[in-house]
Amino acid sequence: MDDYSYPYKDAEFIINELIGFDEMCEEGGLDDVNSELLSAILEEAGRLANEVIAPLNVVGDQHGVTMDEKGVREAPGFADAYRQFVDNGWPSLPFDEKYGGQGMPKLLGTAAEEVWQSSNLAFSVCPLLTHGAVDALEKHGSEELKSLYLPNMISGEWTGTMNLTEPQAGSDLAAINCRAVSEADHYRVTGQKIFITWGDHQMADNIIHLVLARLPDAPEGVHGISLFLVPKFLLDENGQPGERNDVHCVSVEHKLGIRGSPTCVMAFGDKGGATGYLVGEPHRGLLAMFTMMNAARQSVGLQGLSLSSRSYQQALAWAKERLQGTRSDGTRFPIIDYPDVRRMLMLMKSGTEAMRGLAYLAAAEIDRSRLASDPQQAIGHEARVELYTPIVKGWLSELAQELTSYGIQIHGGMGFVEETGSAQHYRDARITTIYEGTTGIQANDLIGRKILGDNGEVLAGLLQEIQVTAKDLNGVEGLSDIGRALQQGADAGAEAMRWLIGEAKENRDVAGAVGVNCLMLLGYVCGGWVMGLSALKAERLLVAGDGDEAFLKAKQVTVRFYCEHLLPRAGACLASVKAGPESMMALSEEQF
Ligand SMILES: Cc1cc2nc3c(=O)[nH]c(=O)nc-3n(C[C@H](O)[C@H](O)[C@H](O)COP(=O)(O)OP(=O)(O)OC[C@H]3O[C@@H](n4cnc5c(N)ncnc54)[C@H](O)[C@@H]3O)c2cc1C
Repeated sequence: MDDYSYPYKDAEFIINELIGFDEMCEEGGLDDVNSELLSAILEEAGRLANEVIAPLNVVGDQHGVTMDEKGVREAPGFADAYRQFVDNGWPSLPFDEKYGGQGMPKLLGTAAEEVWQSSNLAFSVCPLLTHGAVDALEKHGSEELKSLYLPNMISGEWTGTMNLTEPQAGSDLAAINCRAVSEADHYRVTGQKIFITWGDHQMADNIIHLVLARLPDAPEGVHGISLFLVPKFLLDENGQPGERNDVHCVSVEHKLGIRGSPTCVMAFGDKGGATGYLVGEPHRGLLAMFTMMNAARQSVGLQGLSLSSRSYQQALAWAKERLQGTRSDGTRFPIIDYPDVRRMLMLMKSGTEAMRGLAYLAAAEIDRSRLASDPQQAIGHEARVELYTPIVKGWLSELAQELTSYGIQIHGGMGFVEETGSAQHYRDARITTIYEGTTGIQANDLIGRKILGDNGEVLAGLLQEIQVTAKDLNGVEGLSDIGRALQQGADAGAEAMRWLIGEAKENRDVAGAVGVNCLMLLGYVCGGWVMGLSALKAERLLVAGDGDEAFLKAKQVTVRFYCEHLLPRAGACLASVKAGPESMMALSEEQF
């Protein structure tokens, strides 16, 4: 069975050397936060993950969740692990101190999240959803709702959920049917939601559901949806969980992966209506929910990285142990000596390092947008966050499908059977391209809102920065081939953008037909950018004789591999983009 260990060296290199954590915190006025504190926090997170949370990964997968008269029962050990997670203060790490949070940067929270996700994805989605619910409530809730609910959600005593999906309303939220009618100081919410993650469990004293529903006078479509807070237990006069609300889990799904996390069918209002409270303005619920979804989308991208990284660790250990081949002296050698196994390991290593770089860079942009003293700068950072979000969600989760599959391939037949745990990482990763909006939906967001929406202005700014990095690499002996590859990638990005802006006006099918290829192209190029920056930084440190020489040299080789084997895929994506929708849309339904 595999052991788990967070890749501290790579993470700290990205956070400290690439992003400049200390400078970021200092400029943002976070005087007490620095890289030393970051290391200590990650070390502690790693300890809890290793000793308590990771060992439950297989338990959750094999045991799954059950239902009894109290509702959903989580897998054995989960409740105790969650208690320790809460008692150690982990849920409150990145939140506002006003409501009991610790006020730590998002970047630090993201690194800690990688620890939880890679140790046990099914467990980690519970705090992830609470996190998103807190974000939405903080931004859109009334002062009364915030003071009643946020402290216990931030501490993790109560967990949160996200209730969007209904049988007829998946990607198309305009079709939502759940209803809410006003009654005294609250609303009565009725209807059914499906696929609700951690919709019920016994690990916390209360569960706070954020639910999309329609008011009686609501206009049709997405502009007629409102957001409601519906607690599992109504609060008594002391603000403590009291009477049971009319919301229940009626069944749980049996599924391919993340089996330790309950996926619930939720019934609201079987006995007349669940008591709910409006969050934000009537009919503007989707906007409020987007606060939650955007945070969750970056986190789901991070899940792709986390599982790829754990799968890599395990495959690497196997490749060093598994003997298949005999030397001329009669001794047997491990499979890591085979170039093809090296190829797969290097794809996994370089892919995960590029994913980590991009995910952390995007998290740092969230911090910068919050910490900037100049409002114009804050807007610039916010625009980058918006652009990165679908790329982080889409590219990281899609690449995870390939990388976790190599994790199995490296194990040979032992990867296909469940014993090694490698198969679980692959199965768990499969959901990441589906929930929080499928890759197709991320591509629609990227193309429609983030590229065509501003005529490519924010993307053009990013591509220019990438070109500057390519030039910097060109000027360093030994790194110019990396610079050339990055330049080609950035040129492919610019060409795809120009083509798209030109063609999308003429043909309605263009945006939808080329979106995913465009997203993947930009993912490979952004990944190449952080890798290029890493090679430059490693070079500076090597010249200065500063840092771990073996790590820095390995980083440069890993960057080179990425530029030779993953970055060129941007060119193939460009060819697909420029092929446009014609052959895709040519067949009649009957011809399929
Ligand atoms: C394990 C699990 C946990 C989940 N957790 C939650 C949760 O906590 N809360 C919640 O509300 N929901 C949750 N979901 C639901 C999840 O978000 C949806 O499954 C997802 O958004 C896709 O919707 P759908 O399943 O209806 O697929 P559909 O919308 O039917 O999509 C089917 C296919 O059509 C494509 N498609 C649909 N519309 C478009 C379009 N406009 N453009 C291009 N392609 C399109 C999709 O990309 C996909 O390939 C969960 C689902 C699962 C399986």
